[in-house]
Amino acid sequence: MKLNIIAFGIPLFIGLIYIEYLIIKRKKLNYSNLHESINNISIGIAERLCDVLVTGLFYLIYDSIQKKYGIFNIKPSVFLWILLLLATDFIWYWYHRLAHEMNVLWALHVVHHQSEDFNFTVSARITVLQAVARTGFWCVLPLIGFPAPMITGMLLVHGLYPFFVHTRLVGKLGILEYLFVTPSHHRVHHASNEQYLDKNYGDVFIIWDKLFGTFKKEDEEPVYGLTHPLKTYSFLWQHFHYFIEMAIAMKQEPTLKSKLKLLFGRPDALDPTARAKAEAIFHIKQNKSTIEKPLNNYVVWQMILLLVGLFAFILTEHYLSVGTIIAFTTFTLLTLINCGAIMEQKRWIYNVEFLRVFSLLAIAFQFHNYAIIITVLSIVAIAACIYYRPVQNRYLSLVYRYQQ
Ligand SMILES: [Zn+2]
Ligand SMILES: [Zn+2]
Repeated sequence: MKLNIIAFGIPLFIGLIYIEYLIIKRKKLNYSNLHESINNISIGIAERLCDVLVTGLFYLIYDSIQKKYGIFNIKPSVFLWILLLLATDFIWYWYHRLAHEMNVLWALHVVHHQSEDFNFTVSARITVLQAVARTGFWCVLPLIGFPAPMITGMLLVHGLYPFFVHTRLVGKLGILEYLFVTPSHHRVHHASNEQYLDKNYGDVFIIWDKLFGTFKKEDEEPVYGLTHPLKTYSFLWQHFHYFIEMAIAMKQEPTLKSKLKLLFGRPDALDPTARAKAEAIFHIKQNKSTIEKPLNNYVVWQMILLLVGLFAFILTEHYLSVGTIIAFTTFTLLTLINCGAIMEQKRWIYNVEFLRVFSLLAIAFQFHNYAIIITVLSIVAIAACIYYRPVQNRYLSLVYRYQQ
């Protein structure tokens, strides 16, 4: 049986997140907010899922570039693995720096910086769009001549490191601070304090920041999040708000040249009123509601089930049909959209539940023996349609129990 053991990363990292949470709780620190954490993990679930679907494609891209255009024909050796690590880290530095200095890339990377907490869950705040953009930068590696298996192996290790620097529990690390990116360095990167803006872009080594003048030591307490915070848990808005703001600002520009200048220009030059205009168009209210305990449980349980589902999905991905993959992806994304909306007390979540039932049906259709599940789900969906209003009221009163 060909199982994908990368799936075990999910229980491992969730375990580490839980240990950090227990320490934070024991020390009575305010480093972790449940809704913020759920929000971070939601974005991570979507990224992991989509990543599974595109990883094979990335491998093929690297492989064909190396075979057709690779300058050298590199064979693995200790020296070349070290060289690959340095090259990967160097490319990351420039990708990350440009992601902060160019609107078109910032639109993808901004999601990572939206959290106002700083803990292990923040490391999950990566979008699949960012993963796609990074692939463009990593293409330099096969062009040099590094083979695809070496690159994907290195990217896996290189991608694990940042998880450990997203924490406030670890102070300064003495001599390690000179060479490696430490939690202290990365706290500075996530801070919105004036003196910390656009600093410490490194991923594993801090040497690039020192070399190119973007290094800043942590001295004053960082304030985390964006300089203009996003006060919403909406899953979709967090992913796409900056694209909309950019489109609004570009529309205001008179010429193609000035539009392009804005697209590739710095984020701090973007019209500051574009956010408010975008929010008005999409009726986004600046409001992170206080959420009562019963509601938390509903969202938390959906997250737990999604994580279990994602684990099983990645573990058995080689055996899944295209239909199952599409149906599971649809169900997961709808659930994430719904959970974000529930945290904001939206009424339209009831309609999304229908779509979720249909995507569950689609999953069940992939397995012929599950005729009973299909029948039950169909009856539930039809009954909910017939008794739309009373069922909706009952559902909303159950989910938003505090309103009773
Ligand atoms: Zn960044
Ligand atoms: Zn980070």
